[in-house]
Amino acid sequence: MMTIDGMTRLSGLLGNPVAHTLSPLIHNTISSRRGINNAYVPFCVEKEGLGDVIRGGFELCIIGFNVTVPHKVAVMEYLDGVDEMAAAIGAVNTLVRTDKGYKGYNTDAEGFIRELRYYDIDIKDKCAVLLGAGGAARAVAFALAESGASRIVIANRTREKSLDIVKGINEYFGRELAYEVPLDEVHELDERDYLAVQCTSIGLAPKSDECVISDGAFFDRAFAAVDVIYNPSCTRFMKYAKEHGVRAYNGLMMLIFQGIAAYEKFNKVTLDDADAQAVTEALSKKLKKNIILIGYMGSGKSAVSKALLKRLSAYKLVDTDALIEEKAGKSISDIFAEEGEAVFRDMETEVLTELLSCEESMIISTGGGMPMREENRRLMSCLGRVIYLTAEPATLYGRLNGDDKRPLLKSGDLKEKIVSMLMQRDPVYRLTADEICVTDDRSVDELAALIIEHYC
Ligand code: NDP
Repeated sequence: MMTIDGMTRLSGLLGNPVAHTLSPLIHNTISSRRGINNAYVPFCVEKEGLGDVIRGGFELCIIGFNVTVPHKVAVMEYLDGVDEMAAAIGAVNTLVRTDKGYKGYNTDAEGFIRELRYYDIDIKDKCAVLLGAGGAARAVAFALAESGASRIVIANRTREKSLDIVKGINEYFGRELAYEVPLDEVHELDERDYLAVQCTSIGLAPKSDECVISDGAFFDRAFAAVDVIYNPSCTRFMKYAKEHGVRAYNGLMMLIFQGIAAYEKFNKVTLDDADAQAVTEALSKKLKKNIILIGYMGSGKSAVSKALLKRLSAYKLVDTDALIEEKAGKSISDIFAEEGEAVFRDMETEVLTELLSCEESMIISTGGGMPMREENRRLMSCLGRVIYLTAEPATLYGRLNGDDKRPLLKSGDLKEKIVSMLMQRDPVYRLTADEICVTDDRSVDELAALIIEHYC
């Protein structure tokens, strides 16, 4: 944490609401790293007060502001100048103090360009297909055109908004670069080998299972996919892309790079890869601090979570089944026998909800049926990084044979039960997971090491 003293310069964020913003973490992490005496704070601003805030900020010598929803367009009338590209986009998210007032820029576009570079995605002379036509899509569309895309296709629920972006791009770049297609026809495009970019708000946590498109033909034709959403870290759109063998990324690096670009403008410095790395680490910790293990009974959740705890001493271990037994004052078998499965499932949802307000970083080992309820999938996605421990039915049989504590396995043939339950559960586990980890031929310690190395 920087020391605030007589030389501290101030920058900040104007928006409403601002309580959940990650921008202070981005800016203050860089200031601490670089030893720059700058403090960045969020300001919750009503639209009626926006002009006064801009004038007051100037008098207070605030070196710059980021601007977020709902002020990105409205703030433009209070500025001394607007960068040409930001004016064409029609929105600003960064204000830099000059001698006469504030000049507006759009670093969302720059953030997206830098994200493409970061992931080695070359869009030059390639086609891009954008889903969505809101503020993010506008910035991304201009960024793609600026980066040399040969064609930009925009598909949105409200077609007028796509057409407006198409018009803006074609006018600004002086040629027929962009065109519009209806959202429900985008999978029938003649285009091939395109970058697919998801710019709608569909798929954002907590509604992480949703996606504006599910048609495989759309993903098959893409050479890479980017979702501007970063929470959850692996969106349904990204999962579809990966299922079709297409590399896919979320919007976290766009967020980070728009912040870095703003920081550079505010503080007149050039940042490097190490700054981006430090911010990435800080944000990743904040966004995904918990590790959640899911999987069928016998997949190793309890043992692996204990092995993880040995290596991650700052974490707290939470076993949801143990927590439920403690709260109910009886074993899970007794809860099932006396109150039924539905009551137990309600208890699982209750426990996950309570964990949301826990400040500590947790390794959460879950009951095998936990992801089967949609509400639980949503809660897990909000809580942290979900890792599915898989195992073949034969492996599970070997681990579970002789275990009489599992109420769902008490009747019938164990082998058949495992196969039939897995058929039902495996697709849901895969849908829920951010990462999948095969356990069959790995020891518990190997699995813990693997999870820490690759997924934490
Ligand atoms: P807007 O509100 O401006 O646009 C929302 C978009 O989502 C519109 O295209 C809208 O379509 C579409 N949409 C909303 N609901 C539906 C639905 N039910 N079916 C189909 N389409 C729908 O939001 P932004 O453009 O500002 O933000 C979009 C997303 O981008 C957000 O999730 C935000 O978090 C993310 N973002 C990420 C950034 C980053 O740095 N990574 C930066 C900025 C935003 P319609 O026009 O028909 O309403």
